[in-house]
Amino acid sequence: MTPVVGAPIITPRMKSYFMKMSRLRRTTLLAAFSMGVALLLLFVCIYGVSNATALVILASAAALGFFSMATSSRWTFLILVPLTAGLALELVVRENASGLMIFSVLSRFVLTGVLIVYIATLLTRESHRLYLDMERLAREREDALADSRRWISRLNALVVVTSTISTKNHLQEIFTEGLAEARKVFNADSGLIYSVGQDAGDMSVVGSFGYSDELLEKMQRRWEGHVTSCDACTRMKAITVDNLATDDKCPNLARVETGSAICVPITSGGSLWGVLHLRRRFPDAFTPEDVMLAQAMTYQFALAMQRASLFEQVNRLAITDPLTGLYNYRKMVRDIKREIVRSRRYKHSFSFIMADLDYFKRTNDEHGHTAGDAVLREVARTLNTGRREVDRVYRYGGEEFAVLLPETDWPEALEVAEKLRSRVESLRVEVEGVEGYLGITISMGVAAFSQDSLELNELVEAADEALYRAKDEGRNRVVTHATMLRGLPNREAG
Ligand code: GH3
Ligand code: MG
Ligand code: MG
Repeated sequence: MTPVVGAPIITPRMKSYFMKMSRLRRTTLLAAFSMGVALLLLFVCIYGVSNATALVILASAAALGFFSMATSSRWTFLILVPLTAGLALELVVRENASGLMIFSVLSRFVLTGVLIVYIATLLTRESHRLYLDMERLAREREDALADSRRWISRLNALVVVTSTISTKNHLQEIFTEGLAEARKVFNADSGLIYSVGQDAGDMSVVGSFGYSDELLEKMQRRWEGHVTSCDACTRMKAITVDNLATDDKCPNLARVETGSAICVPITSGGSLWGVLHLRRRFPDAFTPEDVMLAQAMTYQFALAMQRASLFEQVNRLAITDPLTGLYNYRKMVRDIKREIVRSRRYKHSFSFIMADLDYFKRTNDEHGHTAGDAVLREVARTLNTGRREVDRVYRYGGEEFAVLLPETDWPEALEVAEKLRSRVESLRVEVEGVEGYLGITISMGVAAFSQDSLELNELVEAADEALYRAKDEGRNRVVTHATMLRGLPNREAG
């Protein structure tokens, strides 16, 4: 292609190459080019003038460079005016130069000056921009570092929560420890854990900090105690209330009137186990990151609660008789041992009742085992509801029951046993397929620890002996071991 006369010196290709360069490189190139031109002009400027004038020109150029660098304002160009005037004076007074000469030198000087100011402004502006960029980058780096430090410390807190509660098998311990950790991690001023009943969906406070008992009571009066009154529960997602004074909130928080709060459901596998509620004194105190961390934490709570609930279920099953729902033989032995320790330490007696249904085999034989089971269940319920609050009823095995009466001597135990016997006697059991009612009687033997025995097996044997005596004497009666022995009210210990 033939070049067109008057075509620009900078072709589009050169321009695109120039634009692709980094900004710094472009500026440097421009500054270097301008510097070259400025030096050339400076040389041209001092060409043909006396040494003194050349010195004035060079000094003026240096002053211009210095001021342009130092101020980096577009008003720097104005410095050119006095400098040019000074040079003109120099040329007129000292050089005695002609008008043309003065015009020629001054115009070269002004051109050089403009270039010097331009280079200085360019470099100053660019270095200032670079400095600001570096400052911004350093700030961003600091922020990122602080951010990652905060995350590390929070992840660390999560690990601590996990390891703390993963070693706990009891729900209450999990609530207490978990809440204490959450308080530390979120620097919360108050908090609660609600536990949600798996069947009924009822809510109850199982752990708290920072809320006075009075406020808790007021809060509890307001809420309906059911998951339907809790937003986090019904929506199964974390709820943030940025300002408790002004924002919408569920009725449970009606009494909490300052600061901000989060409520995070404790869920696992789609089941709701509870809710973690945390509050800080200031509005907008919880960030989305906080909510994420709280969610990770509540997931750990849920796993621990699930595990503890299974653990408690297994424990309960291990000490419960499946037919009657009473405590079983294993639990009875454990309780008697504990009672023996207490009795020895505090020097007081306790009593033990062995009970056996009378002619129960007949009930089975005449009406079948299902009817027999129904009778066993009803007798268990009668004994359990008829006992004193401190006493415990056990299914010893088969159609035998036992009652443990802490801090009770045999005369009082005799009264309790008599009352229970009479309740069983008046029991009328309705059984499907059996006409009318089934009745049953029970025989009981009472023994007291420290009067009748000094060891567990001695106690059980003493109660058993009394029971056999009751059977021998005609059944449906209570015999105490103490009265059995040669008519003496009490046997000497040992
Ligand atoms: P006694 O007045 O001498 O105690 O007479 P009894 O018939 O109650 O005594 P025995 O020991 O001969 O019979 C106990 C019966 O209890 C035998 C057994 O079939 C019955 N039994 C034990 N456990 C259960 C149970 O879980 N369900 C039912 N239906 N019967 C049971
Ligand atoms: Mg028996
Ligand atoms: Mg029996």
